[in-house]
Amino acid sequence: MAQFMTSREMAKIACRSCAGCGKCCRGMGDSIHLDPYDIDQLTRHLGRSFEDLLGDKIALHADQGLALPHLLMDEETGACGFLSDEGLCGIHSFRPGLCRLFPLGRSYEGEGFRYFVVEGGCPEPGRTKIRISRWLEIPDLASYEAFVTDWHYLLEGIRNRLSSREDPALTEQVRWYLLQTFYARPYDGPGTFYDQFGDRLREAREIFRL
Ligand code: SF4
Ligand code: SF4
Repeated sequence: MAQFMTSREMAKIACRSCAGCGKCCRGMGDSIHLDPYDIDQLTRHLGRSFEDLLGDKIALHADQGLALPHLLMDEETGACGFLSDEGLCGIHSFRPGLCRLFPLGRSYEGEGFRYFVVEGGCPEPGRTKIRISRWLEIPDLASYEAFVTDWHYLLEGIRNRLSSREDPALTEQVRWYLLQTFYARPYDGPGTFYDQFGDRLREAREIFRL
């Protein structure tokens, strides 16, 4: 049975990612989903807009009526577009949250989530223990974890609303609203990413009465 942990706990996951195994960067299909924080990091560091990255480094997948972004794998090689020929991540310092997380998963319960090691996730499982917060290497981890939780439950609430209404026109409007509000519009206003996300989250909760 999986052991559920907080980011303060240690897990046996330390791998050779920095040295470049890179097996978790190939053949991942559309499974490396991107949240608004990931897109903020990518657009900021690459100096490219969300629209510009679409079809090149990222793509949209259908998600219960919604359309959400993921990292695009090369059609021929199956590798992530950011993986170098040497097997290194070309955006290591601002890589997406799911790349940082692997081979951990998140289990949501109550008003938060816990981490667990995905069984069989990594073909070269770690032999050394490392504190999860250190593994993730995310600044202001408390704010990040609160954001991840809020985003998860916002999407869950919206999906539930849409499935109970079965209204294609409404679904289309919501799909467009989420992409524009949380992904395409840059987080370049006053305050941190989390401040600005919080404003948009409050607006979305009012609109969807969540
Ligand atoms: S997590 Fe596993 S598959 Fe990914 S780079 Fe590390 S050792 Fe390789
Ligand atoms: S962004 Fe980096 S770590 Fe993530 S799949 Fe691509 S190459 Fe691998």
